[in-house]
Amino acid sequence: MDQLLSKVAVIASKYLDNLKHDPVYPSSEALARLSQLDGTLPEIGTDPERVIDFLAAVGSPATVKSAGGRYFGYVIGGSLPAALAANWLAGAWDQNAFAVSASPLGARIEEVALRWLIEVLHLPGDSGGAFVTGATMASFSALAAARHALLSRLGWDVESDGLIGAPAINVIVGEEVHVSVLKALSLLGLGRERVVRVPADSQGRIRVDLLPPLTSSTLVCVQAGNVNSGAFDPIGDICARAQGVGAWVHVDGAFGLWATVAPSLAGLTAGIADADSWATDGHKWLNIPYDSGFAFVRNPVHLQRAMATNAAYYIHGDTREPGQFTPESSRRARGIEVWAALLSLGRKGLVDLIERTCRHARRFAAGLENAGFSILNDVVLNQVLVSFGPDERTRRVIEGVQADGTCWCGGTVWHGRAAMRISVCSWATTDNDVERSLASIISLARES
Ligand SMILES: *Cc1c(COP(=O)(O)O)cnc(C)c1O
Repeated sequence: MDQLLSKVAVIASKYLDNLKHDPVYPSSEALARLSQLDGTLPEIGTDPERVIDFLAAVGSPATVKSAGGRYFGYVIGGSLPAALAANWLAGAWDQNAFAVSASPLGARIEEVALRWLIEVLHLPGDSGGAFVTGATMASFSALAAARHALLSRLGWDVESDGLIGAPAINVIVGEEVHVSVLKALSLLGLGRERVVRVPADSQGRIRVDLLPPLTSSTLVCVQAGNVNSGAFDPIGDICARAQGVGAWVHVDGAFGLWATVAPSLAGLTAGIADADSWATDGHKWLNIPYDSGFAFVRNPVHLQRAMATNAAYYIHGDTREPGQFTPESSRRARGIEVWAALLSLGRKGLVDLIERTCRHARRFAAGLENAGFSILNDVVLNQVLVSFGPDERTRRVIEGVQADGTCWCGGTVWHGRAAMRISVCSWATTDNDVERSLASIISLARES
């Protein structure tokens, strides 16, 4: 075991060191060699060291180098050093975070991490939470709590009796709702298409003037951080309306919720803490390894009632049984990396991570605008949308950027126009990475 783990540490740190100069996207040759992994499963086992050598030789060149500082595709972070190292240690520990008795450490560190998260995100102090795989499952969990709360108020026990014959819940979403929220609604039997979609403004924000009347059986799903523009719905205004009538407001803040840590972004985040539930990711802007997301619910009883496996909703004394708050039973102890990441950053480091990546985004926007290209969004966060002129040219530039390998950016469509999307989420991105990437994008765009 000792030799194997030492070997993998050497391989991994060389890999991470090479990110400085390796192309960000794997070559087609490296991808073609993945067929070597595709043999028939042998009858006889293979020595673990040979397994790892083989895996590293074929796998490493075929990876997308999103762990480095010049990957700006989707909304994807890297892994902070302390978080990656804690993840390895947690792998060795192999704790099952389902129950206190299965892992006192897993349960305890998750409780601490939850408290720290609630503090740094400025959520209500007695909120509860669940450590899940990502923002999709975080929204699923929080919306299950919402479904429980709204229906139990109407005298319906959805956990026991299901949705067939239940009173209606009216779900309101913004026109720019993330597909994962619609997926969560569909998994919960609330339907993707049964929702009322409120039109959005030029930045993708819900238009409050077009919000239908809210009632005590309304569930409103708002967004902190549009996946294209980075814009926030007017969450404070919507919460103010909801509070009067007892509607439930759920915030999809997969990356955007992290703006709440930065005083400089207070203008965007005002009123967010007035919502009833929040979903966010650990594996995006907090830069911890996959898979990691968090559901927070103002009144944890609703989450617990939605997720508990037995009708007694048992809590042993004051002990929080983690498995009574999550859709899963057995699972890895995700709190370990969160604890390590937050301790390594400190409050200041976390604020700096968020503000620094936003600054990089503004630098991208300014550099591209100065070079004569159009920035399509107000760059309020870490997301930049750029057009290089006619749609075909923009698409050619995106292809060129992706083939060149200096950096990697994805394409999107914004208000009917093709755009390249730059999302800066990684702790590893330096000023130099931004300048190198800008120079490469601009020169490729001029040639296109
Ligand atoms: C990424 C994202 C999600 C989904 O998160 P996963 O971690 O992939 O499940 C949901 N909403 C928004 C706004 C996102 O950016």
